[in-house]
Amino acid sequence: GEVQPVNGGHGGEVPEIRYTKLFINGRFVDAVSGKTFETRDPRTGDVIATVAEGDKADVDLAVAAAREAFDHGKWPRMAGSERGRIMLKYADLVEQHAEELAVLESLDAGKLLAVVRVLDVVSCVSSLRYFAGAADKIHGETLKMSRQLQGYTLREPLGVAGLITPWNFPSIMFFSKVSPALAAGCTMVVKPAEQTPLTALFLAHLAKQAGVPDGVINVITGFGPTAGAAIASHMDVNMVGFTGSTEVGRLILEASAKSNLKPVSLELGGKSPLIVFDDADVDMAVDLAVSASLFNKGEACVAASRIYVQESIYDRFEKKLGDTMKSWIVGDPFDPRVNQGPQVDKAQYERVLSFIEHGKAEGATVLTGGKACGKGGYYIEPTIFTDVKDDMIIAKEEIFGPVVCLMKFKTEEEAIARANDTRYGLAAGVVTKNINVANRMTRSIRAGVVWVNCYFAMDNDCPFGGRKMSGFGKDLSMHALDKFLAVKAVVTPVHDSPW
Ligand code: ADP
Repeated sequence: GEVQPVNGGHGGEVPEIRYTKLFINGRFVDAVSGKTFETRDPRTGDVIATVAEGDKADVDLAVAAAREAFDHGKWPRMAGSERGRIMLKYADLVEQHAEELAVLESLDAGKLLAVVRVLDVVSCVSSLRYFAGAADKIHGETLKMSRQLQGYTLREPLGVAGLITPWNFPSIMFFSKVSPALAAGCTMVVKPAEQTPLTALFLAHLAKQAGVPDGVINVITGFGPTAGAAIASHMDVNMVGFTGSTEVGRLILEASAKSNLKPVSLELGGKSPLIVFDDADVDMAVDLAVSASLFNKGEACVAASRIYVQESIYDRFEKKLGDTMKSWIVGDPFDPRVNQGPQVDKAQYERVLSFIEHGKAEGATVLTGGKACGKGGYYIEPTIFTDVKDDMIIAKEEIFGPVVCLMKFKTEEEAIARANDTRYGLAAGVVTKNINVANRMTRSIRAGVVWVNCYFAMDNDCPFGGRKMSGFGKDLSMHALDKFLAVKAVVTPVHDSPW
């Protein structure tokens, strides 16, 4: 758990930060109020940049621009193939600027640069390409209703989309909403998280370069209760796509109910279980458990934060997991040797540490970690709790940090019951070589995705999104496109048909 010094000479030099203003109708502008806020480097707490702080007045301007671009602009009217062509150009530009995007993302969010390069940036490009391919394949149905009637359905863009995103995967989350919205022919107002505003602005600039018309993508940086809430309650926003906490998801749904009843899709928190059966290869299962729980410093909605291991292999598993986590290197995310960077900001850092203190106070045992590390910055040791009871706070609440509860189970029935004993239902993992066990588990677990002998296995073509208090509505796949389309039925009479 030693924090490594900043490593120069590995690439990843910090670029000049060029985009710090709101992006409205194709131009970078100051907030109406003139206010700004600071975004900080989680390695040190130092200010990286001062960014325009948009609020309701700016959201009104952005929505008006998006409305105009939808009601009178060419984006929703052009052929899908033409939108697709511009999206492919956008993808190429993101790819050409991959290194600058990766560095900006790592710097703002404390994410491992080496991972951002091969995962986050690559996912952004492939998301645009996937949905570019869908833009000219938006079909309705034909309906032979009766001898006297026939109909067909049109799938039309919903209008202005409000897209509110979190800080753990800022660029991936940007495109998880923006790519399908673009393909559908919607226009949009994006509000990135206040902790990580820089990449969304950079990506807005690339959209303009690619030829996305002004007003189609607008980006309002600012805070949730002001800018975010203004989007959620706006009478002229036609849908909201949100990823974030369950608590804020509830506020978004409320804001919709109290304004114009806009459809909402919510990708919220989780407390996902990983269940390891006693026929598993212990080495493989431990490797999976480590990445499932610590990937992106545990700042992942699908993080496996409850690990259940069948009793006959429990002791071996615990020993190996503990040893692996003790050798985990926490440090500068720009250093390629490092396994885990700092938590995103001071508030998250303090929140995670307070959960750790709760766990200790509730009587759980700290097997590894259990405290902050490093001098300055928001670093926390990977922490395993054992002797955890199912009703402890650390076993029930989403912690969103490098903290895992390790628990023992006897039977398959018990594993199913405990896995499902949560308000959440986002993801789950099962490790077994027995196909019958795997099949029964995948049918029994109430979650949006069940990963068998893998974890974090995401793909553009695989729907992603939870149930229960993890929300509803899917990102990725054609299901994500559907969220941005309205189905309209058109019916005509048929006269004198003999059929
Ligand atoms: P986290 O707890 O992971 O920081 P949040 O749910 O607070 O996640 O934040 C996710 C996104 O929701 C951010 O862009 C944030 O600014 C925004 N947000 C926070 N509060 C509100 C709100 N009351 N209305 C709309 N958006 C909000």
